[in-house]
Amino acid sequence: MNCDKPFRIGLILLAAVYFLVCPGCWRSETSTPNPPISRDTPVVEESLDDIRSQIARVVHVENNKHHITSPEEFDAWRLKALIKLDQIRRLEGVEGFQQTPVEKTGSQQGVVDATSKKIAWRASTCWNPTCLGKGKGGGPLVFVKQFENASIGPDGNVKWRTLKDDELPSALACPVCGLVEFVRPYDEPEVEIRRKKLTEELSESRRIRAEAEAAGQLVPAGVRTPTEIMKESTQLPKLFLVPDGG
Ligand SMILES: [Zn+2]
Repeated sequence: MNCDKPFRIGLILLAAVYFLVCPGCWRSETSTPNPPISRDTPVVEESLDDIRSQIARVVHVENNKHHITSPEEFDAWRLKALIKLDQIRRLEGVEGFQQTPVEKTGSQQGVVDATSKKIAWRASTCWNPTCLGKGKGGGPLVFVKQFENASIGPDGNVKWRTLKDDELPSALACPVCGLVEFVRPYDEPEVEIRRKKLTEELSESRRIRAEAEAAGQLVPAGVRTPTEIMKESTQLPKLFLVPDGG
């Protein structure tokens, strides 16, 4: 009995279906869409207490100033803490705010929330080990700064008023420890992981380009340009918070 023939017909049919449903797949695209962010975050075995003491180990206080002795270690433990804290944030939310993930917003501190027509403020958190997990229900301490020189303009977008001479730019300080130095935008762990990968890709792309230029050769196919990589970085989803109530 010959089983080959139906098998071959099946393959031809599969190929036909593939090109019918995916007409763009075999054409060369001029602009590459951003790859999807992997939602697989690493599993963290350590407890929050362990992580907190590990972060404290690389933070030294001297004359009221904080020094991070190993930024690499600090960042590695910070990511572990973020994975744990983010699980709590997703379950419990942020007291007094609605959360809205926004994409393609560049680096703005505020955007207009389409539903409530209020300004949604970029979420931040404090990585001082003494503040870690001191938010609602042992969760992340997520907060925003509602900048007074921002309002909604006639075009429906956030309008920033230039500060007057006697006005100082207001700093984004932590509501618990009052420090500015540990405050960073709050990004979801998968976004942090993707951003780190993009930073690596950027330096690799620059290295390959410099080498190709020095050798008078073309840049190998598949190496994205620094502009493409940086564009993806600014388009990563960000977390914004809209104040509750009227
Ligand atoms: Zn703090």
